[in-house]
Amino acid sequence: MMSFVSYIIFFKKITKKGAKKMTVINKELCNGCKICNKFCTVDAIHYLAEEKKCYIDQDRCTECYVCLRQKVCPRGAIQPVELDSFYKQFQHVISDPVETHGVTGVSGRGTEEVKTNDVSGRVKKGEVGVAIDMGRPGMGVFLRDAEKVAMAIAAVGAELAPQEHTPLAALMTDLKTGKLEDACHGYHLLSVIVEAKCKEGELKQVLEALQKVEKEIDTVFSLGLIIRTDEKGQTKVLDTLDELGIPQPHRGKVNVGLGKPLSLA
Ligand code: SF4
Ligand code: SF4
Repeated sequence: MMSFVSYIIFFKKITKKGAKKMTVINKELCNGCKICNKFCTVDAIHYLAEEKKCYIDQDRCTECYVCLRQKVCPRGAIQPVELDSFYKQFQHVISDPVETHGVTGVSGRGTEEVKTNDVSGRVKKGEVGVAIDMGRPGMGVFLRDAEKVAMAIAAVGAELAPQEHTPLAALMTDLKTGKLEDACHGYHLLSVIVEAKCKEGELKQVLEALQKVEKEIDTVFSLGLIIRTDEKGQTKVLDTLDELGIPQPHRGKVNVGLGKPLSLA
């Protein structure tokens, strides 16, 4: 299993090689035109009337690099400075859709979830995969809220995915509880996925835990359920949604394992 130490080493490598930078506005160059405001994915660029200039709220900025990559400032006032900590680098890698995660090797949010389950076999027969997709453009997610969700479902028996499969697990002090390192709580990400699985018979408790915790967090999430059907393509798992008054899904993806159906378990 990949250790936390090796994970940190990976990020040190990208700092050296790629010189990843934090985003700031150079006050000397900024003329306060506010062109940049509308491009920020999480409303982190604000106008300071007293100074007639814009600034980036570092507590909200996710280091998604949209403003940098798109060169939205005509005066070149939005500039990079070095990402100076492991958490800042984690924030950037997860929030920038063109970045590739060094441990999982996956771009975007650094996880395939269970889109390749027919090959990986992460969710076995009799189990349900749970992918809680937290935050969205316009409304990111603080890691303290991701922790609340992870802890809520772990407390009722969900088994959280390990760090070789999903980036968030690298910040967990205990995979059994979903507790994150305290120092990461204040970091804001564009989006992050809490991944887990449970027995089919435990899905109701997991969904009830989500219904409860959603009132305690300051962001949105969407829920993905990974369900294995029987040979006739049938499942009773979605009946649990009806029991709890949760609308049936509007859309789904079907993975029929045509490429490499290794996982028959
Ligand atoms: S677009 Fe550039 S010059 Fe205009 S407010 Fe933003 S940072 Fe300042
Ligand atoms: S890096 Fe992303 S979150 Fe930060 S100011 Fe630029 S667009 Fe906004």
